[in-house]
Amino acid sequence: MAKTKFIYNEVTCQYEAAPLKKGQIALNFLGLLSLSLALAVVMIYYYQQNFTTLKQSRLQKENKELVGEFQLIGDQLEDAKKELEQMKKKDDHVYRTLLAISPVPATIRAAGVGGSNKFEEQENASLERRSLILSTLQYLEKLKGEIAVQSGSYNELIEVLDEKKAMWASRPAITPLKTEDITKIGSGFRWRTHPIFRTAKFHSGLDITANQGKNIYASGDGVVTKAYYSKSYGNVVYIDHGYGYETRYAHMTAFNIAEGAHVKRGDIIGFVGSTGWSTAAHLHYEVLFRGEHIDPVPYLSKNLSSEEYQLLIDDSNTSDLILDY
Ligand SMILES: [Zn+2]
Repeated sequence: MAKTKFIYNEVTCQYEAAPLKKGQIALNFLGLLSLSLALAVVMIYYYQQNFTTLKQSRLQKENKELVGEFQLIGDQLEDAKKELEQMKKKDDHVYRTLLAISPVPATIRAAGVGGSNKFEEQENASLERRSLILSTLQYLEKLKGEIAVQSGSYNELIEVLDEKKAMWASRPAITPLKTEDITKIGSGFRWRTHPIFRTAKFHSGLDITANQGKNIYASGDGVVTKAYYSKSYGNVVYIDHGYGYETRYAHMTAFNIAEGAHVKRGDIIGFVGSTGWSTAAHLHYEVLFRGEHIDPVPYLSKNLSSEEYQLLIDDSNTSDLILDY
């Protein structure tokens, strides 16, 4: 800046500032301008270092809120994961054990997690908290995969259950005569002496006595494969129950169904009689599994109380009542 010059005024007898020349004014102006600029730069720098702008402040607030929300989402995902772990345990150790099917292999359960990086976009995004977002998304994806496997497992269980339901409905499970119609339990599934030839002969069924004409019921769902007259069996019905099971009902007085009929457990298939090689009205009942005769007694309990069932077991073991041969 130009220095101020003073001139002695003889009129006023005082030193007075000499008027500035144009060059001096310009110099003064530039000096002031530089000073102001320098001051402004210093102030801006100081402000930036020590104060956040309104926009920055808002972003910082939003960022903080987002982090909080992501942590909340993370906590909820963690809870969902725990629930899923419980479902997996029940699936493998309860449902699958009950239905006698193998647990879901660990490799299948792990297969829910994808190998390629599906989150490249998020990974490259210049987000301040991208690692948090990325890890949350990856966790969510893993969880989704595991849920998909679990859901598939439940579908399999439902299929197995449906199959088992059909099997349980088909399997022989009730007495083919109403308990109130049963008068006696004759010979059981065992060796006995032939009443005429006095030789040992195996009795391949269970004899149950009831009055002539009483209803005979199908002991499980199935298809009537035979309904005909046999010299030894008399009027006999064969039912194929599937799953390897077959039942036979002999010495009927009459049929109530024809060959080829589909029957449900409890359907009336015929009536008690004494046709064929029989000495009195009774039902000779046989159960076969994969073509082999088996003891019918274990397949009769569904409609009996435990006391009734125990009595039937005892009688079938001890009865010496011979009604057929
Ligand atoms: Zn018999």
